Amino acid sequence: MLGSASLRATLSPLVPVYPWVVFGAGVLLAWRFHRSALVLALLVLFAADRALAVFGGGEGGAESAGRVVATAAALLVPLDLAALAWVTERSMLSPGGRWVLGALLAEPLAVALLCRPELAHLAMRLERGVLETFAVAFALTLARFLFRPTIIHSSFAWALLAAFLAFRATGASATVYLTTGGLVLVVSLVETSHRMAYGDELTGLPGRRALAEALLRLGDRYAVAMVDIDHFKKFNDRYGHDAGDQLLRMLGAQLTRIEGGGRPFRYGGEEFAVLFPGKSADDALPHLEKLRRAVERSTFTLRDRDRPARKPKQTAPVAARKQLAVTVSIGVAEPAGARAAPEEVIRAADAALYRAKDAGRNRVYRAG
Ligand code: GH3
Ligand code: MG
Ligand code: MG
Repeated sequence: MLGSASLRATLSPLVPVYPWVVFGAGVLLAWRFHRSALVLALLVLFAADRALAVFGGGEGGAESAGRVVATAAALLVPLDLAALAWVTERSMLSPGGRWVLGALLAEPLAVALLCRPELAHLAMRLERGVLETFAVAFALTLARFLFRPTIIHSSFAWALLAAFLAFRATGASATVYLTTGGLVLVVSLVETSHRMAYGDELTGLPGRRALAEALLRLGDRYAVAMVDIDHFKKFNDRYGHDAGDQLLRMLGAQLTRIEGGGRPFRYGGEEFAVLFPGKSADDALPHLEKLRRAVERSTFTLRDRDRPARKPKQTAPVAARKQLAVTVSIGVAEPAGARAAPEEVIRAADAALYRAKDAGRNRVYRAG
């Protein structure tokens, strides 16, 4: 948008309000979600933007306050963002977190000090380190993302990139870049909240709420399958809840590979639903049968607590590892008439599932 002269002219009246809207709403939102690091990152970007606006950015002579403030911001913003990317909500309260907070609060003082004429030579020397600082901060932020790949950690890297562009720009463009960096952080928070509401944390599959919404958007023709692990309670009792969770994750991964346009959801507990939009129950059957066989064939290796991080060259003999067989039972149904409610279809699939269980488990049954 900054590259197009006509867009620039149209949007320029909005530039003065842009930071207030984004940072105002963003700080409130991050505060509400108890994301201290995000609150601070937004405040850092906002403070940098205001400082550049008030002191006139990098324009003016080498020793002008504007130049010194611009240099200080170009050094501090990337380092702050990189540090905040590594801070967790828990570490915020630890001594290390207090240091980060203290350093952030001391930064305006340091900048004011640097503006004094006696320190002008130091400010000029610092100016040469801006590019390296950004490179180091970016590497740190990227490392954080690779270490813990979440939406928010990726947004820190993008916000840093926006800040880099801001410091190469001047005036209104700098404001637009810095605020857009803030916007990236805010959007990542919204996206994270959406994931938390609609996704299942354990398996990564969409959850029950997502299924309810997907059911609303279906046409007349679809099939629903209910998938339930056989004797899962025994599995939990024998190998522990953690092993049970591992098994759920493995099954979740297998469900994502289902063919025939099936969309898997975690329905709750050890039950999964698979939606086949535009398909009949008969269309879905072969794909479900394939899934059932895939689960039956796959052996689930119990991870030891002292399992090595890397796969050892020589693995223990198969018999020495705990190889567990797992099976699932599946019931599938389709709407009986054009006006059948999705809840009825799910009930019918559930009834078919129970018949599959009664018939000895590890099988796929069709309603009706
Ligand atoms: P069936 O073959 O008849 O389905 O027997 P089952 O034992 O699988 O069925 P039941 O519904 O009696 O037991 C379900 C068990 O699933 C009970 C609970 O301990 C376990 N479970 C539910 N949610 C979770 C979870 O998130 N993690 C783990 N580890 N276990 C869960
Ligand atoms: Mg069950
Ligand atoms: Mg079960």
